[in-house]
Amino acid sequence: MTQAIVVRSLGGPEVLKLEEVELSPPGPGEVRIKQAAIGLNFIDVYFRTGLYKADPPFIPGKEGAGTVTELGEGVTDFAVGDRVAYATADGAYAAERNVAIRHLVKVPDEISLETAAAMMLKGMTAQYLLLQTYPVKPGTVMLFHAAAGGVGLIAGQWAKALGATVIGTAGSQEKVELALAHGYDHVIDYTREDFVERVLELTGGNKCDVVYDSVGKDTFPKSLDCLKPRGLWVSFGNSSGPVDAFSVGLLAQKGSLYATRPTLFHYIATRAELDACANSLFDVVRNNKVRININQTYPLAEAGRAQADLEARKTSGTTLLIP
Ligand code: NDP
Repeated sequence: MTQAIVVRSLGGPEVLKLEEVELSPPGPGEVRIKQAAIGLNFIDVYFRTGLYKADPPFIPGKEGAGTVTELGEGVTDFAVGDRVAYATADGAYAAERNVAIRHLVKVPDEISLETAAAMMLKGMTAQYLLLQTYPVKPGTVMLFHAAAGGVGLIAGQWAKALGATVIGTAGSQEKVELALAHGYDHVIDYTREDFVERVLELTGGNKCDVVYDSVGKDTFPKSLDCLKPRGLWVSFGNSSGPVDAFSVGLLAQKGSLYATRPTLFHYIATRAELDACANSLFDVVRNNKVRININQTYPLAEAGRAQADLEARKTSGTTLLIP
């Protein structure tokens, strides 16, 4: 038996309840992990509300880190005692769990399990957005919405290290200051100022090469007005709700724009891709180019309160649930 949060019906944060659940031995290609910490992510909200499809009952969560305590049949690459982490394995909100090894990476000695649990999903997302979806380099001018969030604080530091001019948006003065301390050259409080006008001012009318937009509904289509002709709009989330359907002709009107709607899963689908992405993240954390801010910690039993705070824009940086 172990303790886990179980969603028995879709709904508000109150549906997240701690239960004693049966835990079978790890199956072939799996290991059992005693979890040190679980990462909270906005995607957990989408599954709880039904925006993304999952059939109850289910244990939510995709990200965590811990120690291997048991090996399933055929597992040779991992050993009991290994410190491991994962970013895309459903069922993370639990004290102990089984995980297929295709999701797992070993955590380097210099990185704590708590930091690993906080950064794998958000940090590998920053990695693919900045290095793969659009190759950010010296001279790149970019806009990143929700700059003080989990992905946002990591992306700001990383983009700065790559030499970009990094413009962010954030929802309060406190968040603006936090983002400015994490790589952003300019941060716009988009609850008080028109971010398109400010981007035009900040760039002398030249606008951005790339806009990373995880806010979705509330920042569309204005994000497109921040792009240079032939710029890239990267829509990677729905924190304010999904983007409304639009005619593809809009991309022509706004300047022959490119658009993509990427998801981490497709960038770490193979062992080689997962290792490359995770190692790239480990490197920037080890050499202090990127600091991981764990700004909120909740007991696992209070996962509902944690998700409510995330949805209410009360959090910044990363958030952990502790079993
Ligand atoms: P964040 O910590 O960034 O939290 C979301 C932030 O979005 C809030 O803090 C808030 O910041 C901002 N926001 C703006 N409008 C709203 C609104 N109406 N309701 C709630 N929040 C709002 O979350 P994560 O770091 O976990 O994730 C960031 C985004 O990236 C999410 O949309 C997530 O789904 C997406 N994502 C996508 C991935 C992919 O591969 N496609 C992978 C990982 C994350 P503020 O108050 O400053 O506006």
